[in-house]
Amino acid sequence: MGAQTQDVNLTQAGLDHWAAAQPNGKTNGHTNGHAAQPLQLLDASKLTFQYADSTAREVPTEAEANAGLETICTDHMITCKWKAASGWEKPEMVPYGPLSLMPTASVLHYATECFEGLKAYRGFDGKLRLFRPDMNAKRMLMSTLRISLPGFEPKELEKLILALVAQDGPKWLPRSRPGSFLYLRPAMIGTQPQLGVQAPKEALLFITASFMPRLDLPQGGMRLHTNPEDMVRAWVGGFGYAKVGANYGPSLLATQEAKERGFGQILWLYGPEGYCTEAGASNFFMVWRAKESEGGKLQLITAPLDDRLILDGVTRRSVVQIAKERLADEIEVVERKYTIDEVLEADKEGRIVEAFAAGTAFFVCPVSWIHHRGQDVHIPMGKGEMGQYTSKIKNWVGDIMYGNEQHEWGVVVDELQQ
Ligand SMILES: *Cc1c(COP(=O)(O)O)cnc(C)c1O
Repeated sequence: MGAQTQDVNLTQAGLDHWAAAQPNGKTNGHTNGHAAQPLQLLDASKLTFQYADSTAREVPTEAEANAGLETICTDHMITCKWKAASGWEKPEMVPYGPLSLMPTASVLHYATECFEGLKAYRGFDGKLRLFRPDMNAKRMLMSTLRISLPGFEPKELEKLILALVAQDGPKWLPRSRPGSFLYLRPAMIGTQPQLGVQAPKEALLFITASFMPRLDLPQGGMRLHTNPEDMVRAWVGGFGYAKVGANYGPSLLATQEAKERGFGQILWLYGPEGYCTEAGASNFFMVWRAKESEGGKLQLITAPLDDRLILDGVTRRSVVQIAKERLADEIEVVERKYTIDEVLEADKEGRIVEAFAAGTAFFVCPVSWIHHRGQDVHIPMGKGEMGQYTSKIKNWVGDIMYGNEQHEWGVVVDELQQ
């Protein structure tokens, strides 16, 4: 990269523009010669309720819920419309069901979509918790602004997520099922029904709660196949760091191909150097012993955030922090670029200790095998299902999620009824 400074930083300019249009009688900038209207902010306290008949559907078992081809959602969802001229309308809690969109809606043509993924956990102490939802809400704002969707106060999104879980949690995540979870999916789409490549002037925020299969213990560990030579998931200057739908559709071809060959996910490499970035839609970690020439220490290594290639995972951050706090005597946590050749070399020298993928969907999932262009790296899985460090980290984070450890990362939901 050159050392020249940019004359205009468009990303920052976009964020500043949004910030300037915030509270205290700020205007929308679309005055068209008329007096400016105050813009309505996203306001969770204005949530309206239209209840579903909660006796109409029974709660399936996890196995039943995940057996079909359709994600089973709970009784309700939250929706909220936005218009450039007036801002956010009142958020609504409504029965789960189809959305109505014009075929010319922005999202259907220009991928003006972003999303979040987090879980609600039924604790072993009977309480219902979210895990660091503030981080998801902030990341969602970053994603929306990246694709010219409207901004909002992250705290308000967090309150809406909590409201949905407070409503549907008691029935759909009953106290009789400690250790289970629901998957929460906030998303935003550009809905303005006008063709033409432009920032949408209408948008819709919605939040669903649903079942999702447990993905953290695939038989024999997760197997990774490196990406085809002619594909990358993300690139410097791109949007790999944002949870925008446009990152995922184009990755499915390689993933499907890998699955047909018996692998679970793609290990996405980047650049001619083959930097290891992410495992499917999860962050990727390895435990290895550094070369003697580099100190020979045990390291937990993962790709860095600074070049904005990878998604800044909440699970990744939590793993990094907890390993720094609780494994400091044994392991050095390293966030740096590292290549597949370094992995192959470490394997030849017997320095690989463990590997795992980390994300909300896969939680902390042991990786047992990496296939890279005719070469195979078999990774130790410890005595049982996973190695000792993977296991320790997974248990520490899991204990916070399920209330075995009281921790500020576990946010207790104030449930309604039942
Ligand atoms: C969502 C996601 C992750 C994991 O993020 P979490 O916040 O831990 O769920 C990692 N990589 C990609 C590409 C993702 O989309």
